[in-house]
Amino acid sequence: MKKGHLNVDTKDIFPIIKKFLYTDHEIFLRELISNATDAIKKLEVIASKGDYDGELGKLQIDVKVDKKKKTLTVSDNGIGMTENEVEQYINQIAFSSAEEFIKKYESSDDKNLIIGHFGLGFYSSFMVADKVEFQTKSYDKNAPAVKWECEGSVDYSTTVSKKKGRGTTITLHIAEDSEEFLEENRILDLLKKYCQFMPYKIIFGKEKISQKTGVKDKEGKEIEKEVEKARVINNTDPIWTRQPQDLKDEDYLSHYEELYPYSQAPLFWIHLNVDYPFNLTGILYFPKVATHMELQKNKIKLFSNQVYVTDSVEEIVPEFLTLLHGAIDSPDIPLNVSRSALQADGNVKKISSYIIRKVADKLHDLFKKDRKGFEEKWKDIDVFVKYGMLTEDKFYEKSTNFFLLQDVDDKFFTFEEYKKLVKVNQENKDKDIVWLYTSDKEEQYTYLEAAKKRGYNVLYMNEVIDSHFLNLIEQKFEKTRIKRIDAGAIDELIEKGDKKESVLSKENNEAIVELFKTVVGDDKIIVKAEALSPDDAPVVITEDEFMRRMSDMSKIGGGMPGMGSMPSMYNLIVNTNHSLAKKIIDSKKAEQKKIAGHLIDLARLSKNILKGKELNDFIDRSLKFI
Ligand code: ADP
Repeated sequence: MKKGHLNVDTKDIFPIIKKFLYTDHEIFLRELISNATDAIKKLEVIASKGDYDGELGKLQIDVKVDKKKKTLTVSDNGIGMTENEVEQYINQIAFSSAEEFIKKYESSDDKNLIIGHFGLGFYSSFMVADKVEFQTKSYDKNAPAVKWECEGSVDYSTTVSKKKGRGTTITLHIAEDSEEFLEENRILDLLKKYCQFMPYKIIFGKEKISQKTGVKDKEGKEIEKEVEKARVINNTDPIWTRQPQDLKDEDYLSHYEELYPYSQAPLFWIHLNVDYPFNLTGILYFPKVATHMELQKNKIKLFSNQVYVTDSVEEIVPEFLTLLHGAIDSPDIPLNVSRSALQADGNVKKISSYIIRKVADKLHDLFKKDRKGFEEKWKDIDVFVKYGMLTEDKFYEKSTNFFLLQDVDDKFFTFEEYKKLVKVNQENKDKDIVWLYTSDKEEQYTYLEAAKKRGYNVLYMNEVIDSHFLNLIEQKFEKTRIKRIDAGAIDELIEKGDKKESVLSKENNEAIVELFKTVVGDDKIIVKAEALSPDDAPVVITEDEFMRRMSDMSKIGGGMPGMGSMPSMYNLIVNTNHSLAKKIIDSKKAEQKKIAGHLIDLARLSKNILKGKELNDFIDRSLKFI
């Protein structure tokens, strides 16, 4: 036996290993299996160069728990290590890199934020074990097998081992406070989480299943017997490692099912595949969601060479893309650095803009190939696209090719088509083109009818994000104004400059404004007289577009500062050319107030703001009329 002393100043490295990565203890298993995977990969490389003439056999990794002995074992039949290699790789290099990792970890500001904690490696097993031993035999037939043991202090020992087969078997004597890792189900879950797509077969324990024997018992029932079956954990060949041209739709759909069991099938997907200037593969799916409330971030899984790292990918993909689902695999993403360092990383920036481009190109493609199909899917993706346009300039530029505006009759237009459509009829006296929209076809029905009567096109914009989105469009498109149909009386929305004369005299106009002001009795509501068409509504309530949009935006964040509690600004417009205006003038004082009050309530009813007691009073009054 040879005894040794790990070379450290920090004698306390083991307690630190144990304590520090507290929340992430479970990653020891991923680290050990990654090492086993690397060992197999190295052997394959050596064999492919002709430097190994033995049988490769079935290359695989076995994981077992023994509850009685309180051990967890990971074995591989990879490259193995000679005694010298153990000395060099485990006692020196691995140890000092573990030490370095801990130092880095200790001094880092955002401890929990280091993605995946890659880098601790072999020594992470001491997070859960108070004794670790391994037996290893090199692929080099002349090298004797070695046994290494360490009890979580700086002292270790190496002895000769009787191990016959090539490879490494690591046995963890699980510590008392980590006995959860002796539970089969816990290990099974971890293997599924971290190793689902590892490139070599991982076999976990044995599973008991009943099997038909073909022999019948006295009653003629077939006898079944229990057999043990090796449980393969992983799909060693996830589709992102294959070429798009070799894959069918079914492959993509079943991969989706594999990633998110029991989910609705996705709308479509994008196969990412680059190897220069960085290496990245993956599939991104556009999820089918029943409501936009269901939109969930953090469903994309990040892998590094098929080893699961994390499902929080905000630093790697732009925020709006975190709404997508799928898997990304890139060995070029640095994993043991802080988030801020990650965001500043050149490769990560390139990856992010590559993904933006691919997503935009895919959408453009779908649009070009099958516009009808694209229109059908539009309602499922429009929020996503708007979000992207708002947050990423590059995406905005590309989106203008396929973005669709939907009108109240469910017709779809690209920006160019829409500009043509409204160019003539919706130009105001200042040569601005005014786009009109409704956020609710039912609630704004009266206004919608008024707009239709003028032959205006009305867009349907009912998403929370739309206030922000419309602001963006107004900024980007010259001489374009966008107004909700209740933002003004119909002729105010698009002022043509051919103002109708009021049939009332100036004095009567003023009198009518005064009358309505008194009846409204609320100085936050601005009363105005307008000479509209005789068949427009007698009184209409409008809401200033800018103020309303600001207050909508502050509700979801991102409005103007200090505008959080902005009350809505209402205008009450009296149509002085309506026959009822004349009737009011001709009536007695008491009668005037009654008519005005009723007209105001009707206008509020149309705007859906007549509620509670006032609505009740209105109903009582109406009943009396009958
Ligand atoms: P890393 O994997 O990051 O290099 P580790 O601490 O996990 O660091 O391992 C250190 C070294 O020990 C590895 O680089 C490898 O050479 C060797 N090693 C670890 N596990 C195995 C294994 N299962 N088979 C062969 N060599 C191994």
